[in-house]
Amino acid sequence: MVLKLVQELFKVGQATVPYPFQPVELAPGFRGKPEYNPEQCIACAACTIACPPNALSMETDLETGRRIWSIYYGQCIFCARCEEVCPTGAIKLGSDFELASFTREDLTVRAEFELAACSLCGVYFASAKQLNHVLALLDQAGLPPAEAADRRALLTACPECRRKIDLPRVKPLAQEAFNDRLQH
Ligand code: SF4
Ligand code: SF4
Repeated sequence: MVLKLVQELFKVGQATVPYPFQPVELAPGFRGKPEYNPEQCIACAACTIACPPNALSMETDLETGRRIWSIYYGQCIFCARCEEVCPTGAIKLGSDFELASFTREDLTVRAEFELAACSLCGVYFASAKQLNHVLALLDQAGLPPAEAADRRALLTACPECRRKIDLPRVKPLAQEAFNDRLQH
């Protein structure tokens, strides 16, 4: 009986890998440490909103016009939501999984960005890189010059000033739609 068992064991061979003495072969689609490229990042905050355990965060200082993006790998659950929502491919899950560290700081990555000031009142309101990204998309859209200029004026204004620009235009339209509904 014992002999049979030993024979079976020899037949099966070694089922495990003696890691860390031998590298582990990763399965296709393995989700490891999110790799971040600050050059590609536009500080749009989409990833920080999507991150379920809040491993990603963003601090905005409206006084100094700076925004700090940060990731704390100790809180990451490797779900890839950040990669899914990132519009520029600045964050992608890699294959690194060996994250053991003695300090929290070693597991934290930060990047600093400038904010753009409102073209009308001068208040900081959005990431400058994000605004430039959106303006470049607007240029590529090939809109008629008057419409493009109109949209550019709205995009470069803070939400408060945007409301002031837009309200006189939107109000008559809203009133028209309201009257229309009353008549039908
Ligand atoms: S992989 Fe998931 S948990 Fe980790 S930083 Fe991205 S969104 Fe957050
Ligand atoms: S979603 Fe992408 S571009 Fe936006 S803040 Fe996150 S990493 Fe940067």
